[in-house]
Amino acid sequence: MLTLGGCDPEPARPAVPVADAALAQARMRMVREQIVARGVADPRVLEAMGRVPRHEFVPAAVRSQAYEDWPLAIGYGQTISQPYIVAFMTAALAPRPGDRVLEIGTGSGYQAAVLAGLVAEVYTMEIVEPLAQRAEADLKRLGYANVKVRAGDGHLGWPEAAPFDAIIVTCAPEDVPQPLVDQLKVGGRMIIPVGSQWGAQELYLLRKTATGLRRQGVLPVRFVPMVKGH
Ligand code: SAH
Repeated sequence: MLTLGGCDPEPARPAVPVADAALAQARMRMVREQIVARGVADPRVLEAMGRVPRHEFVPAAVRSQAYEDWPLAIGYGQTISQPYIVAFMTAALAPRPGDRVLEIGTGSGYQAAVLAGLVAEVYTMEIVEPLAQRAEADLKRLGYANVKVRAGDGHLGWPEAAPFDAIIVTCAPEDVPQPLVDQLKVGGRMIIPVGSQWGAQELYLLRKTATGLRRQGVLPVRFVPMVKGH
């Protein structure tokens, strides 16, 4: 956690630069007012949301809005999700320290960074190659050593790294892709928005059991579509 020198005898060299302190305060306010206030209570998830520097994952032009209550454009027609949605989906996934997690839709890499602090390994796939490259570079620069990024179509999943304890999909397919179900462990969880680009989408929490899938609708949402690879 961040500590600020309240009575630093050398104010010219504060322990935390003023800009960073302001960003940390904005981040704490985001956690309190957008996430806790809407009912996300998992302390590990709240801690992760309070720790990951979201402003490092957004373009400079929108950096001043990094901790605001809405999605932001990250280029290539894509967006970084609203902070509350990231927290809600992360909590719904019930991440455990030993888990290996697959994310489809790397985007900025922010959701992957939040997960990286909560689980053992994160595998994340992004279909827009320059976004995959930028996220990979940002995650490396910021020291997230347990995240692997692959440019490719998430409909196929990441068979070489399967099976996964949990899968999080942050773009919306019209139906749950079967390879993702196949790559989930029995007992595993998947959180995925399903629906059409223009119509209603619903966020589903799926649980894979020995006999099939249990599906629970948890929230109406609006995500960018999960596009098919060529
Ligand atoms: N999780 C991201 C936000 C995701 S936005 C973050 O934290 O910033 C959704 C992303 O899904 C977009 O970047 C989009 O390019 C990607 N996407 C869309 N279809 C995809 C597919 N078939 N496979 C992998 N990624 C896909």
